[in-house]
Amino acid sequence: MRFHKAETAFIVFITLILGAGALLVFAYGLLRTDAEALAGSLDLPQVGLFAKLLFSTVILLGVSVLFGVFFIYPLIRTQVREESKLRAMTESLSARSETLEHAALTDGLTGMQNRRYFDDALHEYLAEFRRIDKPVGLMILDLDHFKQVNDTHGHDIGDEVLREVARCLKDLTRYHDVVARLGGEEFAVVAPCMDEAMLHKLAERIRKAVSGLAITSGNVRLKVTTSVGLAVWDGKESADEFFRRADKMLYKAKRLGRNRVCA
Ligand code: GH3
Ligand code: MG
Ligand code: MG
Repeated sequence: MRFHKAETAFIVFITLILGAGALLVFAYGLLRTDAEALAGSLDLPQVGLFAKLLFSTVILLGVSVLFGVFFIYPLIRTQVREESKLRAMTESLSARSETLEHAALTDGLTGMQNRRYFDDALHEYLAEFRRIDKPVGLMILDLDHFKQVNDTHGHDIGDEVLREVARCLKDLTRYHDVVARLGGEEFAVVAPCMDEAMLHKLAERIRKAVSGLAITSGNVRLKVTTSVGLAVWDGKESADEFFRRADKMLYKAKRLGRNRVCA
């Protein structure tokens, strides 16, 4: 059984009172024996009075113990119970709000970050990198003819493709890259400290990996490809301008025939 601090303090307090009471009873016993022995030869009214005082003190201590045990202790118990209930409630509420916050920033289908997280992260990275002389790369990907995948193989297979692409993106990016599903079949990667050459190399690796994904529907093997638009931050433009620049490159990649990287 675990005691709360207030309960432990109360038990110590009652033990001390009981100890003091026991000592007083002992003193009262000694005094009575001596008083009776002397009473025959001497008149000692003060000793008698002192014995009565000791006896009254023992009674008062006894009443205090009873009051403590039957009145104060139940109050402490109630308070401890209410406090622990309140603590449990606070803990469950904060766990719930963490879960909600996580859900608000995560894409339900792929488990990767969502558009909202991406927007915040891009703003934060740019604010941070404005002060240091390091590049920030941005990559936007859009699967090619994805509608056809759904129309031909069904929505569930389409979902499976999205999950596989998400896994592939996670595998090929670094820990501090922001990898998000912007919506539908569109993904983005914010890659801090990557210049254009590095970003291009990474984008090509991702493009090849996506086209090599082994996804099957029945006994048909699907071929999925992606177009990629790249931009490296110029150090001045806003997050929106930066995003629009990469997006333009994505549409250029689509226009030029898809399954390619444009920067
Ligand atoms: P493009 O090469 O020009 O990008 O062609 P596309 O077919 O990929 O582009 P379009 O915008 O015409 O179609 C996107 C499709 O993505 C349409 C929609 O059914 C599908 N899609 C969007 N979200 C989901 C999803 O969560 N799951 C599945 N299975 N499909 C989705
Ligand atoms: Mg699209
Ligand atoms: Mg598409």
